[in-house]
Amino acid sequence: MAWKTLDEMDLNGKRVLTRVDINVPMEEGRVTDSTRIDRILPTIRDIQAKGGTPILLAHFGRPKGQIVPEMSLRHVVPALSHALGQDVTFIDGNYGQSVEALPSGAVALLENTRFNPGEEKNDRGFAERLASLGDVYVNDAFSAAHRAHSSTEALARLLPACAGRLMEAELSHLEAALGQPKRPVVAVVGGAKVSTKLDLLGNLVSKVDHLVIGGGMANTFMAAEGLKIGTSLAEHEMTGTASEIKSKAEAAGCQIHLPRDIVVAREFKAGAASETLPADACPEDAMILDAGPETVKAIAGVFEACQTLIWNGPLGAFEIPPFNMATNAAAKHAAALTKSGRLISVAGGGDTVAALNDADAADAFTYISTAGGAFLEWMEGKTLPGVAALEG
Ligand code: AMP
Repeated sequence: MAWKTLDEMDLNGKRVLTRVDINVPMEEGRVTDSTRIDRILPTIRDIQAKGGTPILLAHFGRPKGQIVPEMSLRHVVPALSHALGQDVTFIDGNYGQSVEALPSGAVALLENTRFNPGEEKNDRGFAERLASLGDVYVNDAFSAAHRAHSSTEALARLLPACAGRLMEAELSHLEAALGQPKRPVVAVVGGAKVSTKLDLLGNLVSKVDHLVIGGGMANTFMAAEGLKIGTSLAEHEMTGTASEIKSKAEAAGCQIHLPRDIVVAREFKAGAASETLPADACPEDAMILDAGPETVKAIAGVFEACQTLIWNGPLGAFEIPPFNMATNAAAKHAAALTKSGRLISVAGGGDTVAALNDADAADAFTYISTAGGAFLEWMEGKTLPGVAALEG
């Protein structure tokens, strides 16, 4: 790992500018889910234990360089103070209040970085202003690392910098899943469309041994093979691309697994009458909404033959039962293998976390990344500017 951790930094008596993600859901000025706040507590506590004063900086919403009072981080202070068990000092956008006056043991929070028009432009001037408030920079916001902003990129180059505990956990698990994985590796890629996951598929076929394709995007791959898919969601203009991905996979020694049987319905709604058919038997007036039990059995066999699993996207229209069957069954199988120590399982992306929670499988996975965009870009093999800046 080319980046440093808190363990390697001297923080004693230092003001530690700590980039966090506390873009928490709020209703009527109150935080409704404090998961993101809870996840940064170990970093704050470790900085304090090393004698440093954490000065948190974060964005909230999309104020686009304007001061939008509803998007002030001031509203997050009560929930943050409650989670930490100590008062948090709020420093408004002028940073007029001297950070030097912060007593030892204090925790401070700066106003929404996106109130400054320089933030999203990765403006060096704004980064220098932030840098003047601290001695050391810690980035604990993996979920914001795919953006080159002043508080995630430029600032890291102006001060001694390291990863916080959450960033460290995220990077080491991702490295274990795709950087230096235990082989064989299987990737599950599902979801609605091929077109939104082209870079992802292109990168994965050269890195993994097995690629399970599910959900709406499998329909496009099946159409590319000449199978009839009725009225299913598909991108017929992408069938050429699907064939190219298949050839690239073959050349790289990656085996692609498509549905062997399908669950079809005439309507896209919960409880719609459905039937399970072989993959080549979709009626003209029906749509494929899930994979069938034979497919689940095959996927389970692939999981059993592998040591590492990386998962993004559901295998069917999981929000409308019974079309969550394949996703749930495969997720449960992965969870059981993980529990028995036979599989390292890493999953991420908004819908994926929801689907694994729906299957009651998320807790057993080795690691669940809640970083949507950053997780996908990382799976696509892209360099994340916020991580690259830590590497110096
Ligand atoms: P994505 O955001 O690309 O991960 O796609 C997730 C969405 O794909 C979910 O809302 C699923 O309901 C939807 N989806 C998965 N499989 C199908 C399918 N066979 N037909 C229609 N929608 C699907």
